[in-house]
Amino acid sequence: MLRAAAAKVTAEHEMLSRLDAFAGDGDHGTTMRRAMAIVEKVLGEAKPGDLSALLQDVGWGLLGVDGGATGPLLGMFFTGMVEPAAGRETLDAAGVAALFEGALASVQKQTRAQVGDKTMMDAMVPAVAALSAAAREGAGVSEALRRAADAAEQGAASTSELRARFGRAKNLGERSVGSPDPGATSISLMFRGFAEAVA
Ligand code: ADP
Ligand code: MG
Repeated sequence: MLRAAAAKVTAEHEMLSRLDAFAGDGDHGTTMRRAMAIVEKVLGEAKPGDLSALLQDVGWGLLGVDGGATGPLLGMFFTGMVEPAAGRETLDAAGVAALFEGALASVQKQTRAQVGDKTMMDAMVPAVAALSAAAREGAGVSEALRRAADAAEQGAASTSELRARFGRAKNLGERSVGSPDPGATSISLMFRGFAEAVA
């Protein structure tokens, strides 16, 4: 799942920087590419069989990415999975949902941005909600992640019409309307990678 997410985001880094150039400083794709290279590096060095330790290394690696808002937020995302992953060798849909619920709660300690503020939360919040709902309804991991990716994609698309209230794009106010938020787009790509990997 991590490899597929990294590949998907890396393949789209130019598009992500273009989106960031609309209302930000144009570096989001570069930062995400750097972040995904760290994920790949951690995966390459991880010893197999300890999911929680892997997520810890990914999270700490991402916390150290230089380049603005993204590193700390993504780092918190993965460190939030560490506790719910502890001691687990296999994950069903409820287990996967618990990981992502931990991730979201952790990011929400880092930012007060809500759905509608035109940030990555516009993709992350509905994705995790869809994942949790799917797990509660008895969907399998693959189906639950597909619904999460669909929700993230819709959430990211919805940011196009929004006015930014957090991050650099906030400074442009009304002029941030008309293009989707780069961070939300990254999160949507990551969830699509997670879903495709399991499918
Ligand atoms: P920077 O804005 O520092 O250049 P990036 O360009 O890498 O960082 O990332 C910009 C993205 O980060 C935005 O599109 C938005 O999704 C997200 N972001 C920025 N600030 C916040 C925040 N306070 N809360 C949530 N997400 C944020
Ligand atoms: Mg930027």
